Amino acid sequence: MTEYPPAWGMRTHWCGELRPAHAGQTVSLCGWVARRREHGEHLAFIDLRDREGIVQCVVDGSVDVRNEWVVRVTGVVRIRPEGTANPDLATGEVEVGDCTVEVLSTAEPPPFPVDDRIEADEAVRLRHRYVDLRRSRMQRNLRARAVANSALRRSMEEQGFIEIETPMLIASTPEGARDFVVPSRLQPGSFYALPQSPQLFKQLTMVGGIDRYYQIARCLRDEDLRADRQFEFMQLDVEASFVGQDEIIACISEAIRACTRAVTGTELGEIPRMSWHEAMERYGSDKPDVRFGMELVELTEVFAATGFKAFAGQVVKGIRVPGGAELSRKRLDDLTDKAKRWGAKGLVWMRVQEESLDSPVAKFLTDDELAGIRRALEATPGDLLLLVADERRVVQHVLGLLRLELGRPPLTEGGLNYLWVVDFPLFEGIDDDGRPVPAHHPFTMPHPDDLDLLTSGDPEDLLRVRSQAYDLVLNGWELGSGSVRIHRRDVQQTIFGLLGIDEEEARARFGFLLDAFRYGAPPHAGFAFGIDRLVALLVGEENIREVIAFPKTQSGADPLTNAPSPVDPKVLAELGLRVLPPSG
Ligand code: ASP
Repeated sequence: MTEYPPAWGMRTHWCGELRPAHAGQTVSLCGWVARRREHGEHLAFIDLRDREGIVQCVVDGSVDVRNEWVVRVTGVVRIRPEGTANPDLATGEVEVGDCTVEVLSTAEPPPFPVDDRIEADEAVRLRHRYVDLRRSRMQRNLRARAVANSALRRSMEEQGFIEIETPMLIASTPEGARDFVVPSRLQPGSFYALPQSPQLFKQLTMVGGIDRYYQIARCLRDEDLRADRQFEFMQLDVEASFVGQDEIIACISEAIRACTRAVTGTELGEIPRMSWHEAMERYGSDKPDVRFGMELVELTEVFAATGFKAFAGQVVKGIRVPGGAELSRKRLDDLTDKAKRWGAKGLVWMRVQEESLDSPVAKFLTDDELAGIRRALEATPGDLLLLVADERRVVQHVLGLLRLELGRPPLTEGGLNYLWVVDFPLFEGIDDDGRPVPAHHPFTMPHPDDLDLLTSGDPEDLLRVRSQAYDLVLNGWELGSGSVRIHRRDVQQTIFGLLGIDEEEARARFGFLLDAFRYGAPPHAGFAFGIDRLVALLVGEENIREVIAFPKTQSGADPLTNAPSPVDPKVLAELGLRVLPPSG
């Protein structure tokens, strides 16, 4: 049974709550006209909509209202005549009769029908989001989002976390994306940054003895917008003291379980863990989509003594695409082009037949090698095998992407496959200047057993250093990440040194945090995950814009308010700013 909040103000009931039990009651309802039908001059029907649903109201006589007018209807609830009940409507067994209708607001015809069954152009929907929000899909999504937020809050509070708000106008944060900046009027030439995350502040709350911090935080990153990303997004942001990875994973898992239960009713078990190494080896990705197989299979051994030049001395892996032998030559050429674009030197394909492997390279391989491939990949006739030979990272990367390209189900199918990926490397590579590139922000604690590798001076050793960082993945999507933080100055200095952040830069960027650490920093660890994507998957939406009340378009614009827009020259003058003509 749905529970409805008490009606107040101009209404006595919600449209959507009326049931046969209300029959005989005089009710006042407020809402929008979803539809009006006249039966001759003496009978009119209004389908009245509010956020809780729709109910049919009957007026004896004619009534001058149109779609989307705002009205107040007063009448008596009655059971619908035999044979006229509407099973598609929660209120379908009743109607409100003897209605009087008071027009509160007239309305122009809406730019698109307020009807989930009719697809409207997204630009038009966003331009008139206030109309779009009346559709039951948006009503349902935004309410699911509110349920998710409230379940997350409750779970964090039950686990002893304290909600703390951190500022929006700050100095730059270390997440590594571009900042949105806000000019300071009182200090012309100086700028605030909008937070990419509350990272440094939450660490300061640990030095401040808060012990368990959380916030549903707005984060802003000026990154190029890919299909499904917004400049601003919401995270559940968490930090705790005197704990390590296991406790953080446990408490975030608990919050995820509570949220999933509240929104979908699904009881999740323990969220499985996988090491980064295993994820890369089996799925070629640090955010593996484990909803489907097609895992990467090691073939290096099969070619240990090969005379085939392209495979000799290389790491070789393959994937098996069930039924893929049907793919056309054109599609195979297209996959080969893609593999090259992703960094491979080439792609070997093999169509599995009863006795042989049909492939342009088959003639270069020995019978043993061909049999070895079949065996290792458990090939059956009709399959397609795809092989890549190169350095390990390239092989993993390219096959990982091919696997997704050929096997990935739509994001919202196949249930909710949460996965913890742990034991990330501290550095993801070495840049052109020979400097290690951090896989997370520079406050991530290396694995205690790998501290010696940090100072050995050998770049290969650096790439072997594990970090105490962990990601939460859902259906192949990185939902969030976190780490145990460095709270020791000597370790932090070593890391800054390796990253080429000198004393002066460290002071300028994070001086306040380093200062704070001089006054008693507890060991601490934390995590943050994105709420937009989570809610989208929980309600079965592919696009996160469907779960955001006022999103921006893919080009970062807001068609509703016209942001971003030029500002008055007077405002610029006050800020000491001048806009240069666009270059190029
Ligand atoms: N601040 C990090 C992020 O926003 C998460 C964390 O390390 O807690 O990605």
